[in-house]
Amino acid sequence: MRKFTYLVPKTLDEAISLYQSYGERAKYIAGGTDVLVKIKEGKLAPDYLISLKHIISQDRPFLNHETGELYVGAFVTHRMIETSPLVQAHYPILYDAVKNIGSVQIRNVATIGGNLVNAVPSADGAIPLITLDGKANIYGAKGQRSVDLLRFFLGPGQCDLERGEILTEVVVPRLLPRTGSAYIKHGRREAMELPMLGVGVLLSLEADMETCAKAGISLGVAAPTPIRALQAEKHLVGKTINEETLAEAGKIAGEESKVRDSIRGVAWYRREMVAVLVTRMGMKALERASRNAEVGMGNK
Ligand SMILES: Cc1cc2nc3c(=O)[nH]c(=O)nc-3n(C[C@H](O)[C@H](O)[C@H](O)COP(=O)(O)OP(=O)(O)OC[C@H]3O[C@@H](n4cnc5c(N)ncnc54)[C@H](O)[C@@H]3O)c2cc1C
Repeated sequence: MRKFTYLVPKTLDEAISLYQSYGERAKYIAGGTDVLVKIKEGKLAPDYLISLKHIISQDRPFLNHETGELYVGAFVTHRMIETSPLVQAHYPILYDAVKNIGSVQIRNVATIGGNLVNAVPSADGAIPLITLDGKANIYGAKGQRSVDLLRFFLGPGQCDLERGEILTEVVVPRLLPRTGSAYIKHGRREAMELPMLGVGVLLSLEADMETCAKAGISLGVAAPTPIRALQAEKHLVGKTINEETLAEAGKIAGEESKVRDSIRGVAWYRREMVAVLVTRMGMKALERASRNAEVGMGNK
């Protein structure tokens, strides 16, 4: 493996300044599960790896009790998210997604920030956070900025980061009451596998516990970037949520997807699977919302 110098800055500003000093010869590294594989395969050849893992000591997703916002730090590992009681209780869509990323060994070191910045269409961390209307907070030489996570993804392997900018966290707005959510990664097997599709559904119900107040439907590996099936979401709002209305929304989502034939599966099959999985995840989200009707915040 090619030799490189490993730098360990203690602050964001120090990391950015190192990046500016070394330019093209430097690369940020968090958990390293993508970067090191690429170096080994000869796809990357940095002279300097700038570690981001020692900058912020925040070790778990946390809730701002005043605003109801969930903060997920970019340097948080998938395992920290998976084992978070807060995530398990109220953001099961995120739990569903991270619990099947790689293996426990991978999840112990791989970060959610690395997963998002990598920006592959199959990134499991992206779909739940997009469905939850997450915003990406970004820090760079020009200061702090924030973008909708949906707009953060520009193309396969491309995201909205300027040279040297660092993704610092994702902020999820307060959940509506009576919310349920679910995610599925569809492939030949659940773990250690590139998915054929990733589908996330979030439903918030009116007080009657059957009318849809808000819907979120996101699809991964269904287009060059993760997408929201906006027409399908619109179809559900104001309607009674049941298998029939969810199947209608699933069909619309399939039509909104931009799936194509690939080694992972042929387009018609993947389109049909979008419909099936939106229905299935919708029913799961509905059940979770109903189970949690008495709990103010969201899903349990
Ligand atoms: C065996 C194996 C199985 C895997 N299985 C899955 C899977 O099931 N699902 C899945 O989605 N992924 C999977 N992955 C991919 C990978 O583990 C994840 O994408 C992981 O979350 C990447 O995080 P990391 O911290 O290791 O990123 P790194 O490798 O450290 O970095 C990835 C990229 O992001 C940049 N970067 C990292 N953090 C930041 C930041 N905060 N700001 C700016 N730039 C940053 C780096 O410069 C680099 O370009 C797998 C990988 C392996 C090796």
